[in-house]
Amino acid sequence: MQKNDLIELIIEDIADDGAGIGKYNGMIYFVKDTVVGDFVLAKIIKQKKTYGYARLMEIKEASPIRVEPRCLYARSCGGCQIQEMEYQKQLEFKQNKIKNVLVRIGGFEETFLECVLEPIVGMEEPFAYRNKAQFPVGRNAAGEIVAGFYAGRTHNIIANTDCALGVPENKIILETVLSYMKEFGVSAYDEKIKSGLVRHVLIRYGFDSKEIMVCVVINGNRLPAETVLIERLREMEGMKSIAVNVNRKNTNVILGDCTRTIWGEDSIVDALHLRNTEDFCRLEEKTVYRISPRSFYQVNPLQTEKLYSLALDYAGLTGKEIVWDLYCGIGTISLFLARRAKWVYGVEVVPEAIADAKENAKLNGIGNVTFLTGKAEEVLQKDEAGEMMLMADVIVVDPPRKGCDKKCLETMLRVQPERIVYVSCDPATLARDLRVLCDGGYEVKKVRGVDQFGHTVHVETCVLLGRK
Ligand code: SAH
Repeated sequence: MQKNDLIELIIEDIADDGAGIGKYNGMIYFVKDTVVGDFVLAKIIKQKKTYGYARLMEIKEASPIRVEPRCLYARSCGGCQIQEMEYQKQLEFKQNKIKNVLVRIGGFEETFLECVLEPIVGMEEPFAYRNKAQFPVGRNAAGEIVAGFYAGRTHNIIANTDCALGVPENKIILETVLSYMKEFGVSAYDEKIKSGLVRHVLIRYGFDSKEIMVCVVINGNRLPAETVLIERLREMEGMKSIAVNVNRKNTNVILGDCTRTIWGEDSIVDALHLRNTEDFCRLEEKTVYRISPRSFYQVNPLQTEKLYSLALDYAGLTGKEIVWDLYCGIGTISLFLARRAKWVYGVEVVPEAIADAKENAKLNGIGNVTFLTGKAEEVLQKDEAGEMMLMADVIVVDPPRKGCDKKCLETMLRVQPERIVYVSCDPATLARDLRVLCDGGYEVKKVRGVDQFGHTVHVETCVLLGRK
């Protein structure tokens, strides 16, 4: 077989990145945009010795789990990978992904995992769940100013102001910005020639507060006829903050260093409710957070409530415990924990996030928490030198995709907390780190996935470890 050959195959499995897997002539092929059970015609785009990649050309017979994607651009957009799969099957895929990775990378027994792995927590409504969207602005092939998304791995912008994962407010805001740009001849940034003004529009929406923030990222110092744009945007119900962010660098990083509020507040607030972990029903108790354009805040607030409530449940707090919350961001989990603990220490490397975390503690009238700026591994190391009491009953970690630093894991093992709660956005690094913790005297008690990112292949996992 070689490149450009056409093959017909049945999709039998799914890869971790969401691509369908089928066999032809004993050879394995990865075919994006297919689901298990599809019978398809595909064209080979890359042929290796024992496997290959093929492009979907035609669905000869659709799988019973195939659904019509809600978004017209589900295939060309890099945002969603599995929108054409029934949502229940997406959850099954993620449940299996967690299990398989823990076996393959973590070296855990499958029979053991069946005892500790709880059913994944899905969404009630897997669309319009994101509270944050960042739309690139540019020109399409016809030269018109558009906002949308980058096609595949390129930086060509396809117009789409109505992402199915985002809130309906996004479309209204983007259309307001685009029509203002056209009316006042405001240019869009062109990456190739590094000129033009408007680069991105960042929108945040508080699901609980209904507050909206718009931040226009520009390659310049100010927007022409700024007051007109302000007039039009502030009309929208819920509009609380309009800002410009200056980014004059030729880089993929969306936000530049300087943000200036041009109308309203510098930030918006939102709240996360506690949930009952039996049925994940919403409870009255809530924690309020102040969010600025740069803050890290989970993108799916309804599922985040479930995730944090689960983490709190796993932490098993009675009010007497000293708790460490490592990689604490703006203190989201820390403040959830603080109401049930004696004292919480939050550690985070971004100083602005720590400033937000301290504000958030005040906003909620929570006093039994200390926020420290620094790397989780180093702040903990410092304690070792005797600068601070090195003691924790429970340690909660919520690291970025690359997982915990080795030094951080070693320190956790030295501190010997009763329980460790590991919140992870990447099962592979989670599995690697769990192996280290288990070899160091802990055992996995419970594992549970929470689907924070419907229609994508990503999954969040919460794990409870106990000291053996
Ligand atoms: N728990 C928070 C944030 C989780 S995201 C929440 O749920 O909102 C992970 C956070 O870890 C980010 O805020 C990132 O800035 C921070 N981080 C990354 N590397 C770190 C390190 N070595 N030490 C401490 N924090 C780190």
